[in-house]
Amino acid sequence: DTAPTAKGNSAASRDIASYLHPYTNLATHEKTGPHIISKGHGIYVTDDNGRDFIEGMAGLWCASLGFGENRLVKAATKQLETLPYYHTFASRSTNPAIDLAEKLLELVPVPMSKVFFANSGSEATDSAVKMVWYYHNAIGQPEKKKIISRKKGYHGVTVAAASMTGLPGNHKMFDLPIDRIIHTETPHYWREAQPGEEEEDFATRLAEQLEDLIQAEGPETIGALIAEPIMGAGGVIVPPRTYFEKVQEVLDRYDILFIADEVICGFGRTGRMFATETFRLKPDMITVAKQLSSAYQPISALFINDRIYQAAKKASDEIGTFGHGFTYSGHPVAAAVALETLKIYEEDGIIDHVRNVMSPFQKRLKDLNKFEHVGETRGRGLIGAFELVQDKCLKTPMQPVGAAGKAVVAKCMDHGVILRALGDSVAFCPPLIITEQQVHDMFDKVEAALGDWH
Ligand code: PLP
Repeated sequence: DTAPTAKGNSAASRDIASYLHPYTNLATHEKTGPHIISKGHGIYVTDDNGRDFIEGMAGLWCASLGFGENRLVKAATKQLETLPYYHTFASRSTNPAIDLAEKLLELVPVPMSKVFFANSGSEATDSAVKMVWYYHNAIGQPEKKKIISRKKGYHGVTVAAASMTGLPGNHKMFDLPIDRIIHTETPHYWREAQPGEEEEDFATRLAEQLEDLIQAEGPETIGALIAEPIMGAGGVIVPPRTYFEKVQEVLDRYDILFIADEVICGFGRTGRMFATETFRLKPDMITVAKQLSSAYQPISALFINDRIYQAAKKASDEIGTFGHGFTYSGHPVAAAVALETLKIYEEDGIIDHVRNVMSPFQKRLKDLNKFEHVGETRGRGLIGAFELVQDKCLKTPMQPVGAAGKAVVAKCMDHGVILRALGDSVAFCPPLIITEQQVHDMFDKVEAALGDWH
């Protein structure tokens, strides 16, 4: 049987016939067909039926400058005309890669020594895992290899990255996680705190649980902990007060490296250039992607501090080569677009703009609490979510889990806003260029959708 939208030689039928979609219910897709987006401008995208949507998720938490930034088109074109590709293996280099690495080191708020480039968030976090292993081999602690991640954390889908991701759907059918990767608890105060437990006491308890896990595994076997400053795909979970400083104390006690995964939070999302600043983190490595190029080109980066760099340098000198890198590491077109993106952030005062619009954004998000089935609203800067529950007081999950999230997101689409369901939480992560008026417009539409739904 063919899907209703999949008639003859339509784009929908050709999609169904040929394209394996990422993160898609494959059986349902054959029936419903694709939703084809054909163009974009500002915070809006238009589908092939000519319907406009506010892209309330900036795509996948990434198109920070929206969908029509001409300066990025020009930067890409200029670089394509000058040198469309060259690699950076074996000491070759290109000017855009050099300029971008230098600029990133200038912007990063904690001391970092070098920047490594890749193409996706997954490649950056996977590279961080390999750096942890390389480093500990280099300093003669080959047993210190396990990585602690967190349940509901999201770090991508390559083998090590998917193992660090703490979501059952990323593990179950893929025989993951690999050994050496273990998970600690989710810092979700509203959902996980015990009755009467204060936020700071909850943070203390989580840090103690982390320490118990380290003790049980053997501190000499734990190489690093990876964490998103705000968990994104796991439901937009903002850390409880004092959480990261308590976690850092535990890591310091056992000489465990800290990797801040800023793939979503980096470049203004929390109202500062890096969430490392917002939450006063002290990472040894930082991963970034997405908003690094406003998603106009695939590019990601891994920052490493000098302790790691010096050890790696010494080891690679002995071995001959640091045996890691991608064909497209530091791709000149992607690097040129990322550089221009960073220039726009500075010249257009994007971070100040985020600080201005984040107050109305967070206020309108909080207002959604007035709806009967909205159990919690949470967020920071220009990222947020509301969680749907059966019963507000008891926080009982909706049944069946995930259906309400999907239904609300579908209603929001009917009202012209694209959001993302993460189970029964619904996430917002609009382009950073969204104006205050557009914030109100978006929430007016979402309120209308929630009113329609129930
Ligand atoms: N890390 C975080 C925090 C992410 O949110 C994501 C993607 O959403 C990734 C890593 C993986 O990035 P990619 O999909 O580009 O591989």
